[in-house]
Amino acid sequence: MTLRITPQPGIMDIALYVGGKSALAGHDEVLKLSSNENPLGAPPSAQLALAEAAKFLHRYPPTDHAALRQAIGDVHGLDPARIICGVGSDEVLQFVCQAFSGPGDEIIYTEHGFSMYPVLIHMAGATPVCVPETERRVDVDAILAGVTDKTRIVLLTNPGNPTGTILPEGELERLAEALPETVLLVIDGAYTEYAEGYDGGARLAGERPNVIMTRTFSKIYGLGGLRIGWGYGPQELIEVLTRIRQPFNLSGVQLAAAEAAVRDRDWVETCAALNAQQRVRLVGALHQLGIACDDSQTNFVLARFADGAEAEAVDQWLQADGIIVRRVSGYGFPEGLRITLGDEEQTGRVIAALTKWKEGV
Ligand code: PMP
Repeated sequence: MTLRITPQPGIMDIALYVGGKSALAGHDEVLKLSSNENPLGAPPSAQLALAEAAKFLHRYPPTDHAALRQAIGDVHGLDPARIICGVGSDEVLQFVCQAFSGPGDEIIYTEHGFSMYPVLIHMAGATPVCVPETERRVDVDAILAGVTDKTRIVLLTNPGNPTGTILPEGELERLAEALPETVLLVIDGAYTEYAEGYDGGARLAGERPNVIMTRTFSKIYGLGGLRIGWGYGPQELIEVLTRIRQPFNLSGVQLAAAEAAVRDRDWVETCAALNAQQRVRLVGALHQLGIACDDSQTNFVLARFADGAEAEAVDQWLQADGIIVRRVSGYGFPEGLRITLGDEEQTGRVIAALTKWKEGV
């Protein structure tokens, strides 16, 4: 069949997203540590709120997200008028790329930045410009060197995925200060809650005319399956994004669950404490086994092996034990395996499997 319908320029440059595995042949119960999900699941408070909201499925949801924006504002000390909510932070990032760039414009992201960035940039018709990182860390000077008069946006993952490293606040500020005021700095803080003493870029997004911060309910709030995220920045910019947001982008159950989750600070504390504990444990065990990894400020650890072949072998070894982790070749780490931090028992399983592998090498 000859197709006479042709896609818009740029669309065929978008690589199809390949998600992580969630099942393994021969294993009824797998330990899935490949998508940085919360090992404690969704907070009971959110599940209750969701069940209550599910009684009103026949009603259209509110279009202004007022209650959720108020809850986020209360908890983080932010002005609700400067917050926008989306279907995951992915959608908020999509709004940003679409609203502030187009054909002929460039968007900078960094070597190990989130894999959705080039997709979102192509979706906006803009040109992705990937700049190097240094030793698995965002390099402010490399970003600044990549700026041209076509640059409209810089997309930054902080803390990084899959590196787990963080750009300190001083460096973030230096970047914001050095960028031309016509370039929007987007600080993607999907893992902010796991980094001690870090505000996700909230202060900068509050003070500067060209900084937006994005956050998610998919990680520490355990609501990845519901798809909710938000962004915060100058009110004028948030209002621009709101113009391209579909009025009913979030359902009543999404809104209710997210509102309950963000107000449930005990839950966040419990999850952050468990994560910090297991992170020290896994990083310590990897070092003891002679497996390279950096200190992580997130809910995963990037283990680095001798080369791609060894990473593949370890991946297969873990799968044989029913454990799914993430190959991160697409992020520039053929030698890497990204391991989500689990609970006490789950992290123990990973350490035991890696120890056995090491014994057999
Ligand atoms: N940014 C980063 C760095 C991420 O790792 C993720 C999820 N993997 C996202 C954004 C998107 O998160 P969500 O759309 O689930 O909010």
